[in-house]
Amino acid sequence: PREQSRGSSTVTRPGTETAKPQSFYQAVIYQRVLMKIAVYGTRKYDNESLTQAVAGANIEFTFIETLLDELTVQLADGHDAVCLFVNDVCNAEVLKHLNNLGVKFIALRCAGYNNVDLSAAAKYNIKVARVPAYSPEAVAEFTVGMIMTVVRKYHKAYNRVREGNFLLDGLLGFNLHGKTVGLIGTGKIGLLTGKILSKGFGCTVVAYDPFPSPLAAEYGIEYAEKLDDLLKRADIVSLHCPLTEETKYIINDNTLGKMKGGVVLINTSRGGLIDTYALIRALKLGHVSAVGMDVYERESTYFFADSSAKVIHDDVFARLLSFYNVFMTGHQAFLTQEALTNIAETTISNLLSLESTGNCPNLVS
Ligand code: NAD
Repeated sequence: PREQSRGSSTVTRPGTETAKPQSFYQAVIYQRVLMKIAVYGTRKYDNESLTQAVAGANIEFTFIETLLDELTVQLADGHDAVCLFVNDVCNAEVLKHLNNLGVKFIALRCAGYNNVDLSAAAKYNIKVARVPAYSPEAVAEFTVGMIMTVVRKYHKAYNRVREGNFLLDGLLGFNLHGKTVGLIGTGKIGLLTGKILSKGFGCTVVAYDPFPSPLAAEYGIEYAEKLDDLLKRADIVSLHCPLTEETKYIINDNTLGKMKGGVVLINTSRGGLIDTYALIRALKLGHVSAVGMDVYERESTYFFADSSAKVIHDDVFARLLSFYNVFMTGHQAFLTQEALTNIAETTISNLLSLESTGNCPNLVS
């Protein structure tokens, strides 16, 4: 399905011998072949950031609003690669179809890759690349904002004041200073979240990670030897590990039971880290005092779309939304201008590198 370019890829501007490269991609790769990329789950901001970042590279995007799954995979016909986000379904069946269509690459415009069957991708020799760190600051800052929101109840105050209700009853919070925050996972996002909470708020930050970071001490983060130790100590538990077979439902009846009564739980990582039924039980008992979540285990049915005039059929999701002390956002933590620019530039750089060398530093295997 690929065409030869019509000579549109040049390193210098016409008429100038010493002009700077038109974009930073051209400085790296002199690319002659037109790559066609099917961008699934496109929203306006994806279209804008990718279109802006692609200038000068010989890449053509087809922007598709729907998510990738068994029914929509055919839309990738005639493309070299598919570009996916967190809720696209890229299982063995979809990969088989992609392979039949001649798709060679999957460019994830996110860090997590739990939605791609990597062994099936390897079987069909479809290379998978991701954007490992588009803006850990974006997610860390959002996480801290989410903690502040559920602890100090900004969202409730906003609604009240707009309706002319200036009563403070029901808005009682607690200081973060002096509290213990438990971080599950201290990769790029967990570390920054810990740094802000420790250095900025004066929290005690205790973390659990099977691969401790040498930066943790400098950021004011101490490690618990076992997850249980963290769960017993933390006033606020925040999740920052990836969703894998080992971490699926890491928050369950057992681990919730080990947390302090009145604990605050924050999840800006992946919905599948929490057994939602167990969380609902803990909320009903009052064992968990507040929850902030940017992700939900079956979010793909609702997130990134306007469902305001539709009935919610997922009763578990509806129950969660009904709690006065659950604050939910729709997988928004990454959404900053800086992150979108980084996502677009890294995605394009990954694709160019895969096309020209068959490899790239952000390959997932
Ligand atoms: P990262 O790979 O830098 O760090 C993940 C850390 O989790 C690693 O240090 C790893 O050792 C640790 N870990 C693995 N298994 C663990 C376990 N069982 N217990 C404790 N720690 C464990 O990832 P990151 O960039 O910090 O991102 C973390 C997660 O945030 C991603 O996996 C992704 O799911 C999520 N994320 C969400 C958004 C959003 O918009 N809500 C945006 C970006 C990333």
